[in-house]
Amino acid sequence: MSDSPAALAALLAEAEHAVVLTGAGISTESGIPDFRSAGGLWETYDPMKVASMGTFMDDPALFWRFHRPRIDMLGAVDPNPAHQAVAELERRGIVKTVITQNIDRLHSRAGSQEVVEVHGSLDRGYCLRCEHTVSMDELCARADAAEDGVPRCDCGFQMKSGVVLFGEQLPMEAIEAAYDAAERADVMLVIGSSLQVTPVSQLPGVVLARGGRLAILTESETDYDHRCTVRIHHKAGPTMQAVLAALKAA
Ligand SMILES: [Zn+2]
Repeated sequence: MSDSPAALAALLAEAEHAVVLTGAGISTESGIPDFRSAGGLWETYDPMKVASMGTFMDDPALFWRFHRPRIDMLGAVDPNPAHQAVAELERRGIVKTVITQNIDRLHSRAGSQEVVEVHGSLDRGYCLRCEHTVSMDELCARADAAEDGVPRCDCGFQMKSGVVLFGEQLPMEAIEAAYDAAERADVMLVIGSSLQVTPVSQLPGVVLARGGRLAILTESETDYDHRCTVRIHHKAGPTMQAVLAALKAA
């Protein structure tokens, strides 16, 4: 097992169908706190309560008091060198798909085209009752204009963003796309995910079972560490930039 950016570059250079899988760790370097970490938003709010489908249905004002500032916070951060490197690998034809647990849209903003968002994203607002869809700008405008901060549909029902809530089903289309990408991958590069949440925790196993190889770049441990071809314990941004540099040099 190797642990150098050069080894990761070599693995990617050999790949015919590389897939990148990312979690919260890739976005902490953009200044987005991992919600499970100390000082995160979830120390003030209980996530199971405030970011849950139950609260959205029963107390939409409480839900939106939490959700509305978070939308502004996520809009104010920028993609970091790790997101940019992943986008560059796609432009070079090495990476075919990015699967992400993140809802921050930083991969798309960095230029990645094929992004599968398994936990939904801040891409739009919609109504659970009549399925009316609006842009994020429109969703926020409706929230800001409402006395109780709750954006409402023309039908009167409270609207939500595309972010998947606790107690809400994951988007089936995205889950299927993630498994499809994993089944076709000859290399999977995991960045910033500790691989503890399904379905993402299953995907490296899908790749390995079909003879693909696994690389993991995280600061924390994962259950797949002993099955990697390349395992790097370091920050995502500097490592991925070193990988790009090694690919250019090769
Ligand atoms: Zn509606």
